[in-house]
Amino acid sequence: MRKKIVAGNWKMNNTLDEGLKLTSEIVNMVSDEVRGDVHIVLAPPFIHLTQVKKLISGVDKVYLGAQNCNDNAQGAYTGEVSAAMLASVGAEYVIIGHSERREYFNENHKQLAQKVDLALENNLTPIFCCGESLEVRENGLYKEYVCNQIGDSLFHLHDDKFSKIVIAYEPIWAIGTGKTASSDQAQEMHATIREFIAERYGGEISENMSILYGGSCKPDNAKELFACKDVDGGLIGGASLKSRDFTDIIKSF
Ligand code: 13P
Repeated sequence: MRKKIVAGNWKMNNTLDEGLKLTSEIVNMVSDEVRGDVHIVLAPPFIHLTQVKKLISGVDKVYLGAQNCNDNAQGAYTGEVSAAMLASVGAEYVIIGHSERREYFNENHKQLAQKVDLALENNLTPIFCCGESLEVRENGLYKEYVCNQIGDSLFHLHDDKFSKIVIAYEPIWAIGTGKTASSDQAQEMHATIREFIAERYGGEISENMSILYGGSCKPDNAKELFACKDVDGGLIGGASLKSRDFTDIIKSF
């Protein structure tokens, strides 16, 4: 069964106190009624993970995510954090291949494939991000571009591993811009991704895969986006930093 997921990517925001306050507010606001069958993932900065975990442990359907992991298992990589370390502090999800990491840290397909492998080896669920720039959208080749991102970093996986992945489609032109993809644009790409996966892994795996939308998803547009047949939730940036907005988005399902 496809999971509905709303994940908050805090990016490089919030001091520890602010992050814990936000977490407590979210935990208090997501009653069973609000949450329904939606899985909620909080992805704070690394240094918050242990303490955020304490606040959410025992809270049904609220999970801990990290924003990145290194593409090596361990070793002399000053300043980096491994998938095994994330698992050891109770993380359950890890965002891999966010466009900001691809752009500012030059992450390439090969590294992302290695991160995905290490995440899976450590029982973390990768939230694999893909999405095109405005330039690619305007030249019309966005479907090929996004499918290539998925194929290049994920299609080495065997069925059992691939079926554990969550995909997040985040058009770069919609991230932090206030300019969201229309529900038609989101649905078109999500359906394309699902078909592409079906060609490689078959209909069952593809139908069961959660594909999230990200990019200026807010309380006022989440309902329309989540109503799309192939949109299974959201990866939320700015609006995940305000407990009211984030819980309103969760309620939009
Ligand atoms: P915004 O919701 O701020 O546009 O960010 C989306 C995003 O990049 C989530 O990973």
